[in-house]
Amino acid sequence: MKQSPSQNFDVRADGQNPSYIILHYTGTKTAEEAEARFCNDNPQDQIGRIAPHYMIDGVGQWIKFIEEDKRAWHAGKAQWKDITDMNSASIGIEIWNSGHEFDCEDFLPKQIDSLVELIENIRTRWNIPNANILGHSDIAPGRKIDPGEKFPWRKLEIYGVGLMPDMGDPSSEAEAMVSAPESFYQALRDYGYTYTDDQTVLLREFRRHFLPKLLDNQELDLETCAAILSLARQAA
Ligand SMILES: [Zn+2]
Repeated sequence: MKQSPSQNFDVRADGQNPSYIILHYTGTKTAEEAEARFCNDNPQDQIGRIAPHYMIDGVGQWIKFIEEDKRAWHAGKAQWKDITDMNSASIGIEIWNSGHEFDCEDFLPKQIDSLVELIENIRTRWNIPNANILGHSDIAPGRKIDPGEKFPWRKLEIYGVGLMPDMGDPSSEAEAMVSAPESFYQALRDYGYTYTDDQTVLLREFRRHFLPKLLDNQELDLETCAAILSLARQAA
């Protein structure tokens, strides 16, 4: 692991321990560019002072910027359930990927293997349930779309990291939900999506993480309803 100390942090509010992991992509052409940005503590800089705790670079190396017990500045304005200070509640991991502005290339298997290992390593120190491993787009939908629909959440889940819906036969409950969309959006809020009430944004960002093949579908459908019900069951 490479150490690349950053000053872009402060203390966690109320001395809390991290209980979430938030995943991001860097959205930079190179990993070096992202590393330099995360170490830049010039407040005049246009993007502002930002940094995750860790980054996975283009060859799957871990780069550590900030100690895990400190509050790194990676989430920005965000909310999940009733938590508005997500930086105090989480550990942030950036994965190098050029993102939607550039090529949005596939994440590399060695990056994902390395990420799984890092998360397992972090979880030897902190209690972070699978339901609390989220993307930036989950906690700031409408403002952020990283780590993006190409991020292999399903592969992580197979490794035991994060939750994904079980796609069994849709239940009668899912069928009832399709014809009562309010109950679907209430289920999203109950699961944690509280940052916005914009239903178009919520449907899209929920699918970006959990059902990327339906990302461009405008309509609520049975599979999406079955997905939130499955996640809620698993998280309970
Ligand atoms: Zn992000």
